[in-house]
Amino acid sequence: MEDCIFCKLAKGEIPTDMVYEDDLISVFRDAAPEAPVHVLMVPKKHVASLNDLEDADRELMGHMMLKIKDIAVQEGLDNGFRTVINTGEDGQQTVHHLHIHILGRRKMTWPPG
Ligand code: AMP
Repeated sequence: MEDCIFCKLAKGEIPTDMVYEDDLISVFRDAAPEAPVHVLMVPKKHVASLNDLEDADRELMGHMMLKIKDIAVQEGLDNGFRTVINTGEDGQQTVHHLHIHILGRRKMTWPPG
């Protein structure tokens, strides 16, 4: 998707603080962190939200779910962490490219509402 900022970040077309990358996904630091560790896991393929997933995305989503614990170890989140996926207007999703927030090492006043 041409105008999607997360497509560009995920593919390295715009520089970002990348913490992990493979063929299917990228993980980079959130620009406005809500916790000492706040990273975003995104698919390289453009998927707008959870509502836009298809059967063909099973492997991709399984890969994302299983990779979370590796990112947590890498980021030193040994004592636990929070994952958040905002979806659509009522979910307060602001970037319309599917992403999993991974937050940790406390200061948990987020998400709002
Ligand atoms: P959401 O509200 O779930 O759509 O979350 C979007 C997240 O993307 C927010 O936490 C923003 O701080 C973050 N964000 C927006 N633009 C960028 C960017 N260019 N680089 C890194 N994080 C970003």
